[in-house]
Amino acid sequence: MPKPLWAPWRLEYIQQADEQDGCIFCAADELVVARGERAFVLLNKYPYASGHLMVAPVRHVGDFGELSDDEALEVHRLASTAIGTLAQAYRPQGYNVGWNLGRIAGAGIVDHVHLHVVPRWAGDTNFMPVLADVKVIPEALADTTRRLRELWPT
Ligand SMILES: [Zn+2]
Repeated sequence: MPKPLWAPWRLEYIQQADEQDGCIFCAADELVVARGERAFVLLNKYPYASGHLMVAPVRHVGDFGELSDDEALEVHRLASTAIGTLAQAYRPQGYNVGWNLGRIAGAGIVDHVHLHVVPRWAGDTNFMPVLADVKVIPEALADTTRRLRELWPT
């Protein structure tokens, strides 16, 4: 098992998550990599690793069991394409793919379900310095979003 990643900027996120108005998935725009009919892919603003993507249904739904068959299928198909695109862009050595359901399970946003796709490298922390200033990250996010959009199959 790889060691859990230390991502200090996530502390800020966890502190702010309860204070945010509205839903980051419903408002998502600049970090969206690709949109499907019923689901879309966006970069996590507070990543565990560089290239950390999330796939969410378009519909604002907080109950995993409420996803329709079409939504569930599209979320997984987009996750599959996301893995292929990350492979091309960054050559990760592995991935963590999964759902955090409920605050106790690590979900920052509990009322709009989303699937995490986290690329992993041996010694991941070499890829994005863990001590990078939080202010530096938005630029890195913009670069990553651009790169993945360019590589995303149409
Ligand atoms: Zn939402």
